[in-house]
Amino acid sequence: MASISVQRDERQSTRELRGRDLYLEHADEIRFEDGVWLVPSQHDATSVYEVTLGRRGEFCECADFEHRSQACKHMVAAMIFRAKTGPCAEGGRRFRHRDLYPVPEGDLTYFDGDEQMVNTFAEQAKAYWELWGPLGEPMVRGVEAGADVQRSYILWLRQIYGKGSQH
Ligand SMILES: [Zn+2]
Repeated sequence: MASISVQRDERQSTRELRGRDLYLEHADEIRFEDGVWLVPSQHDATSVYEVTLGRRGEFCECADFEHRSQACKHMVAAMIFRAKTGPCAEGGRRFRHRDLYPVPEGDLTYFDGDEQMVNTFAEQAKAYWELWGPLGEPMVRGVEAGADVQRSYILWLRQIYGKGSQH
């Protein structure tokens, strides 16, 4: 039998993956209003969970968080959304970075922006999980591994298109 700590690691990384899936499927529906992230339920289109990410603590309405008091997939999705968006200068609405800084079609330098986004997200995510102390360590390692994979993917894309090299 695997040790308990290994099982917990696996479950945590599964939550990170499910949170990422939730973000990928529902990014357009995530909202930030009055300091609260509104994250749709993955399986019930009529439900929305209120998520708080802040210095005073993290909170989600869902049963998973209520039972475990650890980051659930809604928090992970909200965290990714926060990392990938910026507030509009005009008001409280948030937009994806690509919408804030539109790039011309075919301008492959946007891979540079993607790499920066990966780095920014990894830094924010690591800082977030480090707040969890020992419980967050597997997530910190997961974030680093995930960022490496994404950087490799961007490098691969650059090689495919033969552009974007700084050398
Ligand atoms: Zn939740």
